[in-house]
Amino acid sequence: MTHSPVRRTLERWAQAERIAPLPARDDAAPPAISFEFFPPKTPALETQLWSCIERLATLRPDFVSVTYGAGGSTQARTHATVLRIVKETALTPAAHLTCVGATKEAVNEVAERYWAAGVKHIVALRGDAPNGETYAPHPGGYAFAADLVEGLKKVADFEISVAAYPETHPKASSPEADLDNLKRKLDAGATRAITQVFFDNAVFLRFLDRALAAGITAPIVPGILPVTNFTQAQKFAEACRTSVPNWMASMFEGLDDDVETRRMVAAAVAAEQVRLLQANGIDEFHFYTLNRPDLTYAIARILGVKPEAPAA
Ligand SMILES: Cc1cc2nc3c(=O)[nH]c(=O)nc-3n(C[C@H](O)[C@H](O)[C@H](O)COP(=O)(O)OP(=O)(O)OC[C@H]3O[C@@H](n4cnc5c(N)ncnc54)[C@H](O)[C@@H]3O)c2cc1C
Repeated sequence: MTHSPVRRTLERWAQAERIAPLPARDDAAPPAISFEFFPPKTPALETQLWSCIERLATLRPDFVSVTYGAGGSTQARTHATVLRIVKETALTPAAHLTCVGATKEAVNEVAERYWAAGVKHIVALRGDAPNGETYAPHPGGYAFAADLVEGLKKVADFEISVAAYPETHPKASSPEADLDNLKRKLDAGATRAITQVFFDNAVFLRFLDRALAAGITAPIVPGILPVTNFTQAQKFAEACRTSVPNWMASMFEGLDDDVETRRMVAAAVAAEQVRLLQANGIDEFHFYTLNRPDLTYAIARILGVKPEAPAA
């Protein structure tokens, strides 16, 4: 019989790197949260969205946003979803609006309709050219998101959020140019940036440092994607050049057909991500819900967000 070497466990433990403690649960104020939904394509997906909205609404988010399909392809569905939120809920909706492939007049008209319907918050984006083509501004349109923000501010006094890229927008000429662009969007009237998905907290925290150094003071809210379907998330991450840490791939490895374990791992991964951000002072989170409430709901609870107590 061979003896394994003595593992000097306590000594190793005592000497291991220490991390800052997570915020105490008793006295940590719950963070502000917001949720992103996409407009449903079918009646079944519409039912799914509305049960998702009903469940997440109990957590009283600051706002809920509804995406605009690539190239404005969901214009009518986005509009209908946002309007239904206005009419049937007490939530504050934010409508995503892109300027790709549209004239300024067409974009302004959509914005005017939102304002008239009581929608006062826009997530202003450039959007992408269809099917991976190279983006070119519409001859009569807003060229970039910063121009769109400026134009929207002339339509009405919207609250405007814009996109930020901790790992730099894939087509930016440099990280510095991309930060300058973020600053232009904020200087044009946006008051908040929401980030592209990221999985590595260090990437986000370094980005905040760079943004501060560039003179940005508006909140840069982390966009959190709770991942249950790792294969799908990996594809999405690849498309938007979000890095996927090896540890994450390793955690989900071999779980494709094991839904229950995958869900538990997913909850632990997302909970760890947001708690570590919370420990680093972040007190606002935007969740990419993919119109599924359970994981987002659980993670919001872990962050200390509680549903409204039922009326006595
Ligand atoms: C939170 C969030 C929500 C999103 N929601 C949607 C959605 O609902 N619908 C949708 O279709 N897409 C959405 N997107 C994707 C977004 O449309 C794409 O990432 C798009 O490629 C860039 O949009 P932007 O608003 O960041 O563009 P911009 O801020 O205009 O930047 C685009 C690129 O152009 C560069 N740039 C900016 N100005 C100039 C200039 N004057 N000269 C040269 N280069 C310049 C920037 O550095 C960057 O590389 C979302 C992204 C995020 C992060």
